[in-house]
Amino acid sequence: MSNFKILEKYLLAPKIHFVLVQAPLIAKKALPGQFVMVRITEKGERIPLTIADYDREKGTISIVFQELGKTTCDFAKMNPEEELLDLLGPQGNPTEINPKLIGKNIIIIGGGVGVAPTFPLVRRLKEEGVKVTSILGFRSKEYIFWEDRMKNVSDKLIITTNDGSYGKHGVVTDVLKELIELGENISHVFAIGPTIMMKSVCETTKINNIPTTVSLNALMVCGMGMCGACRVNVNEKNQFTCMDGPDFDGHKVNFDELMKRLDTYKKEECSCSKYI
Ligand code: NAD
Repeated sequence: MSNFKILEKYLLAPKIHFVLVQAPLIAKKALPGQFVMVRITEKGERIPLTIADYDREKGTISIVFQELGKTTCDFAKMNPEEELLDLLGPQGNPTEINPKLIGKNIIIIGGGVGVAPTFPLVRRLKEEGVKVTSILGFRSKEYIFWEDRMKNVSDKLIITTNDGSYGKHGVVTDVLKELIELGENISHVFAIGPTIMMKSVCETTKINNIPTTVSLNALMVCGMGMCGACRVNVNEKNQFTCMDGPDFDGHKVNFDELMKRLDTYKKEECSCSKYI
């Protein structure tokens, strides 16, 4: 008995699952930007998953994950009332909110499954009095989730789809560039999503001198600073995503090196279907 009981579980979009887990001690301390290390079976690996929400009173945390490799496929097969073997967290540093941003306009960019962890951040920013425009990008209409939830906490919400099946046709950086060209006063950008998206966001904001925070999704093994697997090159220095991040100044991240490292086990990871 681990006590990390699954209370709710359902599909938000194709292969994207929502899970509500009983975890009162983690819920008590969790803050936007933090993650948990999840283990499903005794011989299984631990995987990092960002906390998508927490309810301190009910003692629950929400996790949103995409079926991609062996462990997420195993997780996808679990049902309410079953228990996770273990759950370690909250890990990592909470997202820093500079008090100078109070009353200012900022942009939150979420891409695909990376939209989920933007929710507690936007809610927190709103509580602090920051004006938030959320730009959320999905592949197509069927992949969209949490539109209402995000609308409730954002001052303005713009949705893009790659194929134009809903919202604006294009990707998140098209909207970002448009807003910059329109002369919007943007004090900060936070981006969570595919590494290539965060790289592209940073290229856009760098030339426009807009400070940008990214949440890196490096490969992680221990999640507590011992193994070095999640090292990333930031400002020409090695940093551990689990202990020094996961948030970093996007303009200082070596995204090309990160993408190369993320590809290391691609062949093994991509064969999810062979486990089902
Ligand atoms: P996806 O491939 O469906 O892309 C989502 C959106 O990102 C697209 O619709 C588009 O608007 C934007 N995008 C993608 N490539 C772009 C590019 N080259 N330029 C500009 N915009 C681009 O995303 P997915 O398959 O749902 O994957 C989500 C990613 O988010 C995963 O890689 C996952 O690891 C990551 N993630 C990170 C965290 C975190 O906390 N760091 C949490 C959850 C997920």
